[in-house]
Amino acid sequence: MSLVELTNGGPLAGKVRKLTILGATGSIGCSTLDVVAHQPDRFEVVALVGNRNVELLAEQAINCRAKVAVTADAGLYDALKEKLAGSGVEAAAGMGAVMEAARRPADIVVAAIVGAAGLKPTLAAAEQGTTIALANKECLVCAGEVFNSAMRKYGAQLLPVDSEHSAVFQVFEQKQRDQVDQIILTASGGPFRSATYEQLKEVTPEQALKHPNWDMGPKITIDSATLMNKGLELIEAYHLFPVEPGQLDAVIHPQSIVHSMVSYCDGSVLAQLGVPDMRTPIAYALAWPSRMPAPVERLDLAKIGQLTFEPIDSDKFPSVGLCLGCLETGGSATAVMNASNEVAVAEFLSDRIGFLGITELTREVLNEADAAGMLGNMTSLDEVSDADEFGRRKAGELAQRLQK
Ligand code: NDP
Repeated sequence: MSLVELTNGGPLAGKVRKLTILGATGSIGCSTLDVVAHQPDRFEVVALVGNRNVELLAEQAINCRAKVAVTADAGLYDALKEKLAGSGVEAAAGMGAVMEAARRPADIVVAAIVGAAGLKPTLAAAEQGTTIALANKECLVCAGEVFNSAMRKYGAQLLPVDSEHSAVFQVFEQKQRDQVDQIILTASGGPFRSATYEQLKEVTPEQALKHPNWDMGPKITIDSATLMNKGLELIEAYHLFPVEPGQLDAVIHPQSIVHSMVSYCDGSVLAQLGVPDMRTPIAYALAWPSRMPAPVERLDLAKIGQLTFEPIDSDKFPSVGLCLGCLETGGSATAVMNASNEVAVAEFLSDRIGFLGITELTREVLNEADAAGMLGNMTSLDEVSDADEFGRRKAGELAQRLQK
């Protein structure tokens, strides 16, 4: 096939893709549906899965003519059914229905349920050997090896949606993998990049929920403020690309224009740039191995003027080092860490612990897990669940002690 043919769409050009979205009502889900709404002839929506927001779920399902809309909350079945009445869209509810929807034949499944709750539905989707556009970080963070071996077993194709991993994916030369020096993820630095340590002690949930560049769901927005998000992304990068932990690095780039980089042994550094808008990496995953138009602002570098970079201050933001430490420890460390961070973020959002308490609590849980001999290897989903449960339980206990 010539280059011209490839750039005109490649082998899948013209094929209508059957699409399922897990986490349709969230930030990634809404952006995905917006991309799809601008390219309606390319996609046929099979299933939309959400949780509490059945009003939006029903509206989305009717607009995109989904076959089925599913809420994970069994108690909301009647509300969803009522909103879908007469639309021709099937309503379903409960975890069994979520798993069934994930298993419905689709060419691409966008995995965008937030948190560890996204793991089992994503694995259910993978069972059909389809393409998974992965936004949910926790699949790789909690269950890296277990998740990847399930992907291999079912012959599923994993495509990153996160802007940083999409950037790396776009500039990582598979044939030159032995010549890769480093993967360098960029981080905006969040809203408190210039704050002092003393100021961080006083941060409120309201302040932390205001991200300077990205419009995202609450959990990832708080993770971006603590820079835990960058730590989680480094773990994800380790599981997505053939590199060692020592080849992973992150740098602060406040403008969020360079979405990440790969450096090679000859000194070349390849980067992917674009305006900070998740619809670009989503469109890339949906159209891969081709590209398609996305409804995003074009990048105007002359208007932006300056792109700056600075190192991460590990005293103010210890979470990145904590995550890299978990990666070095291996086994269940990242699963325990992720679970305790989820609890800590929820405690912070409920104003029960302080901003610095999020990473403090997570570190404490890891110490306890180590002392209890809980950081062993994981080879099954049950072991992942055990590590997750331990992390949540210990974090819940410790949160009582750290309460303001
Ligand atoms: P949101 O909080 O905006 O949305 C979460 C989605 O998950 C909602 O549709 C929610 O449903 C659904 N959900 C929550 N709990 C359950 C459950 N138990 N079962 C089924 N569905 C559930 O999150 P984001 O869209 O921001 O993020 C989604 C994932 O993508 C996260 O893992 C995040 O880290 C990752 N990501 C997000 C980015 C972003 O820009 N937002 C960037 C890169 C990665 P409902 O709202 O109806 O309750």
